[in-house]
Amino acid sequence: MEYNNVNLVVGAGFSGAVIANLIADKLGEEVLVIDKKDHIAGNCYDFRDENGIMIHKYGSHIFHTNNEKVWKYLKQFTDFNTYMHKVIGVLDGIETHIPFNFNTLYDVFPKSFAARLEQKLLDVFEINTKVPILEFQKQDDDDLKFLANYVYEKIFLHYTTKQWGGAPEEVDGAVTARVPVYLSKDNRYFQDKYQGIPLDGYTKVVEKMLDNKNIKIKTGVDFSEYRGKSFKRIFYTGSIDEFFDYKFGQLPYRSVNFKFEIYDKEYYQSNACVNYTCNYDFTRIHEYKYYLDDKSEKTVIAKEYSEFFEPGKNERYYPIPKEENNELYQKYLSEAEKLENVYFLGRLGDYKYYDMDKAILRALEVFEEIEK
Ligand code: UDP
Repeated sequence: MEYNNVNLVVGAGFSGAVIANLIADKLGEEVLVIDKKDHIAGNCYDFRDENGIMIHKYGSHIFHTNNEKVWKYLKQFTDFNTYMHKVIGVLDGIETHIPFNFNTLYDVFPKSFAARLEQKLLDVFEINTKVPILEFQKQDDDDLKFLANYVYEKIFLHYTTKQWGGAPEEVDGAVTARVPVYLSKDNRYFQDKYQGIPLDGYTKVVEKMLDNKNIKIKTGVDFSEYRGKSFKRIFYTGSIDEFFDYKFGQLPYRSVNFKFEIYDKEYYQSNACVNYTCNYDFTRIHEYKYYLDDKSEKTVIAKEYSEFFEPGKNERYYPIPKEENNELYQKYLSEAEKLENVYFLGRLGDYKYYDMDKAILRALEVFEEIEK
């Protein structure tokens, strides 16, 4: 079969679906989308279980963005509820809010001490500022030094060690900076203008993106089946090292293992996501019915365990942002730049810790480049 007029999209997650949608819809060209998973939507895949609860198979996905372009684009395919994500952390048995904020101070310390710390913080920082923990540790005042060490130890050290296999200093500072210390009383995890969960779930959104007469989808199919064939363009959202047959070595990733449990009660915990920052081997517990306010006498939770990615054993979830890994990625990138009509995108293609909105934005931008 001839593919010279066909665009091949490898991976049917958000990155692949957006680029496929635009090529098919705006350019009217033929697109073949393949994915080695047996379903579309990549790691955003969700489905309703027998109790009517929408399960996020690969962990909680909460959409949030400040980007108007991304929001406008997505709104063509779905409406969102007005869910605003909050995370509860269990610190030595105390339930409190994460990111650490002024309310957390009062949850974990006696009132007079919390008030003193609050005042000292306000003397040093502007209200509503966000300070990465590794910055926050640079305090002169003894009380604030104590506080910084407390937050580091109780919120970041153990969780990060579970999640990344090393202390916060051992991964790029941008990783822990995603969850800064927040000098505010806002308990939300994100402050973005737009946030929510697609009303019919993420899989439906991707399904609609791919619902185009110019698009063919094949799941359960590996790129190796098409390697060497001549396509009009290739959009590759798999891992860039795999594309080049690991010629410079493997890019490391973290994987995640979810242990699902079902309970004969309405709710298991007080919130959709509870982080266990000091205890246990799992990082957090997700309780899915909160996201779309699903009604059922049962509830489904997943305990999340982080582990190294090993080919054939588990899936890639997180690139590991570290200098040596970035150097290896740069080698693959230089190879990629020599290729014509092959585009790399997505968390795995770009080896970047994108949130959903950033992955979508990147796909929109790749398309803009092509359209020029
Ligand atoms: N983090 C932490 N404790 C927490 C929450 C986050 O140490 O309670 C750190 C940890 O290193 C984590 C990073 O901040 O990997 C980013 O957290 P985020 O919730 O953004 O991670 P994701 O939801 O993408 O897994």
